[in-house]
Amino acid sequence: MFDALTDRLSGVFEGLTGKGALSEKDVSSALREIRVALLEADVALDVVKKFIEEIKPKAVGESVIRSVKPGQQVIKIVNDGLVEMLGGNEDAKGLRIDNIPAVIMMAGLQGSGKTTTTGKLARRLKTQERKKVLIASLDVYRPAAMQQLKILAEQVGVDALPIVEGQLPADIAKRAVNAAKLGGYDVVILDTAGRTTLDEQMMSEAARVAEISNPAETILVADALTGQDAVETARRFNERLKLTGLILTRMDGDGRGGAALSMRAVTGLPIKFLGTGEKSDGLEVFDAHRIAGRILGQGDVVSLVEKAAAEMDEEKTKRMAEKMAKGVFDLDDLAEQFKQMERMGGLGGLMGMMPGAKKAKQAMDAQGLDDRVMKRQHGIIMSMTAKERAKPALLNASRKKRIAAGAGVHVSEVNKVLKMHQQMAGMMKKMGKGGMKQMAKAMGA
Ligand code: GDP
Repeated sequence: MFDALTDRLSGVFEGLTGKGALSEKDVSSALREIRVALLEADVALDVVKKFIEEIKPKAVGESVIRSVKPGQQVIKIVNDGLVEMLGGNEDAKGLRIDNIPAVIMMAGLQGSGKTTTTGKLARRLKTQERKKVLIASLDVYRPAAMQQLKILAEQVGVDALPIVEGQLPADIAKRAVNAAKLGGYDVVILDTAGRTTLDEQMMSEAARVAEISNPAETILVADALTGQDAVETARRFNERLKLTGLILTRMDGDGRGGAALSMRAVTGLPIKFLGTGEKSDGLEVFDAHRIAGRILGQGDVVSLVEKAAAEMDEEKTKRMAEKMAKGVFDLDDLAEQFKQMERMGGLGGLMGMMPGAKKAKQAMDAQGLDDRVMKRQHGIIMSMTAKERAKPALLNASRKKRIAAGAGVHVSEVNKVLKMHQQMAGMMKKMGKGGMKQMAKAMGA
């Protein structure tokens, strides 16, 4: 599916993991190669740019996980970026069929694989979701298309709406919905007529069908082999039809696959399925993690890094808990908390487990501590010497001035960090051993 891209990337990754330490130059040149590989795979330029921009600071500024190589960490970062580009976890899987009968409208250019995909979906809904399915062809221009759908229905064992000559697409849609209601169908799939190019008549006809049938899903079927044209088709259809998702066909071909990678980012629409063959079972649920894994071919590395990162967080949490039990919470600990929070995209591991966490979070919110502020505060702490971090009492006016200059902030910002540290240290102390017990329990110890 993405063979050429996978080959290119595996070369880049070999170079990265072959080295023990990575310089900024190593990472930059690897990212340059990844950029070229994606462009060669026909991924849209804007999408590639955004992807590289997003992963670069992470790859360059990666925090060190001792048990894995830096190159492996970069692979994980590239993987996560790719998953994000493909829609991450947020996509609803499968089709929305809450209200019965649910209408699924299929749109797309002629030859994109619309009719074949209609058959595939019908089969899937019937065999895997035990739905009663009715399919209807709205292609009044090509009697052969209507026949094709009828034969498909027989093959996959669902009902097709009887063909009535001379009806308009909108009338057929109405008849299909009525028949579905009367016949107790769960789902009715409307296979609309396509043209070989985007034209106004096709669009307005499809819009009319949508108006009449009020689809739960309006799916664009696009041929992945047509590359950037498929992306443009999706964009144009979406302007007129309020699409709810995409299905990319011919993913079994040896095309460059870039369309599939750009689609989501360009249109903002979820890719729901991939067509992977001419037969009615050639349909695959789209899963961003699985596709990223397939493209990178580095599944083992990714899970290794995930595991190591989780272990590291746990180890640090334990170490900090031990310190806290003794009533110690220095600026290094605060810096670590900032970092953990950034990694976890929210309240840090340690704090999340503690009874006082809510209060601490409130204190942070009260000071307007969002991610950006947190990064700045982390920067301030990093401008201190190790001695100062371990013993904040050392921080007199001249030291504060030096730190502020180093971090490029006003002295008042340094004071803010110190105040926050004091508040948190006080809170941690209060929790003392009682907090420890709670935490040990939360960690399953
Ligand atoms: P429509 O005009 O959009 O309805 O397109 P069809 O469903 O008639 O498909 C056009 C051609 O593409 C047919 O020969 C299908 O067998 C083929 N096709 C559809 N989907 C796929 C797919 O996922 N993989 C492959 N290899 N061929 C497909």
